[in-house]
Amino acid sequence: MAEASPLYETYARAPLRFERGDGVWLITEDGERYLDFAAGVAVNSLGHGHPHLVEALKAQADKLWHMSNLYQAPGQEKLAKRLIDNTFADRVFFTNSGAEALECAIKTARRYHYAKGHPDKYHIITFEGAFHGRTIATIAAGGQQKYIDGFGPKAPGFDQIPFEDMDALKAAITDQTAGILLEPVQGEGGLRSFSTEFLRAVRTLCDEKGLLLLLDEVQCGIGRTGKLFAHERAGITPDIMAIAKGIGGGFPLGACLATEEAASGMVAGTHGSTYGGNPLAMACGNAVLDVVLSEGFLQHVNDIALVLRQGLASLKDRYPDVIEDIRGEGLMIGIKMKVPAADFIQALRAERMLSVMAGDNVVRLLPPLTTTAEEARLGLQKLEQAAEQLKAARG
Ligand SMILES: *Cc1c(COP(=O)(O)O)cnc(C)c1O
Repeated sequence: MAEASPLYETYARAPLRFERGDGVWLITEDGERYLDFAAGVAVNSLGHGHPHLVEALKAQADKLWHMSNLYQAPGQEKLAKRLIDNTFADRVFFTNSGAEALECAIKTARRYHYAKGHPDKYHIITFEGAFHGRTIATIAAGGQQKYIDGFGPKAPGFDQIPFEDMDALKAAITDQTAGILLEPVQGEGGLRSFSTEFLRAVRTLCDEKGLLLLLDEVQCGIGRTGKLFAHERAGITPDIMAIAKGIGGGFPLGACLATEEAASGMVAGTHGSTYGGNPLAMACGNAVLDVVLSEGFLQHVNDIALVLRQGLASLKDRYPDVIEDIRGEGLMIGIKMKVPAADFIQALRAERMLSVMAGDNVVRLLPPLTTTAEEARLGLQKLEQAAEQLKAARG
């Protein structure tokens, strides 16, 4: 790049300038078409330019954009009701992002114990490999040193233990513990799933010890894993859950869901948001649910996931020096690489296909949930070409 960028240099941006999107495709200013299996990091759940979403946003734009949370919010009530009808939750708070949804989840858990007369119970236990956002509290929750360094003292009250280590979990619980926070499938951390047995054991432990179970389904929620929410696989429910990404379909939207009991400390004046739950976001959230909750939609996600997973399993067998393992659930797929993940992502980009890096040398595939079988097979062809290139390059 010859010219200095006017932007913060916090991102290593790929040299691609996209102008518009169409379903699973992103189209550059030069008219080149890229198969988008990154989907804005699991945000574009219905792909780009989905007619129902576009229509909902346009219709709302003609009526009302914003009026603050000082007045009744019919759009919020409608979306909250639908989320409640389809989950464990009794109460919902709307935010603009995932990190804000986590902030609300953390505050809800702390306030619950405070209201019960235990202000010292504010510690939350998290797991290595976690990612919960970029705010001062959520970088402490995520526990990754590279995000914490240089931003002053780490926010207190977050205790991190090794992934799926039940002994460490039991040992970490003290009189100050408020709850346990985890992503049922770790996204940024490298597409690691907590086992069904472990999730059930954590739920039991929370019940025994009077702790709250907080789930971060910002990335794995809203149909991404083939269930509406990833924790459903384990037959458990949390007390509090943060969601975002897929629920807005591209419009900034997050939410914190809680049971009546868990939300009992969040009384008038304890929390708020200027933009959270604005009518434009609610129109988009409701439109996304129209599609995701429609008959057969989750079956479609599972069908497409099967096509991709079978293809990837065969690819792994044919390129054992390139691919080590296939991870994840549903359309939240991780390819654990034997070559540097960055090289594979670049090779895919040369084939005009987009993917996302994750920790632990994993390449993430997060195609729109609306991806067709034909588009999935096209993706598999491009993955094969990239694997072939890297194999050839390694001699
Ligand atoms: C993306 C993500 C977040 C943070 O969401 P933002 O909207 O970037 O604040 C939190 N948790 C998980 C699991 C995520 O994937």
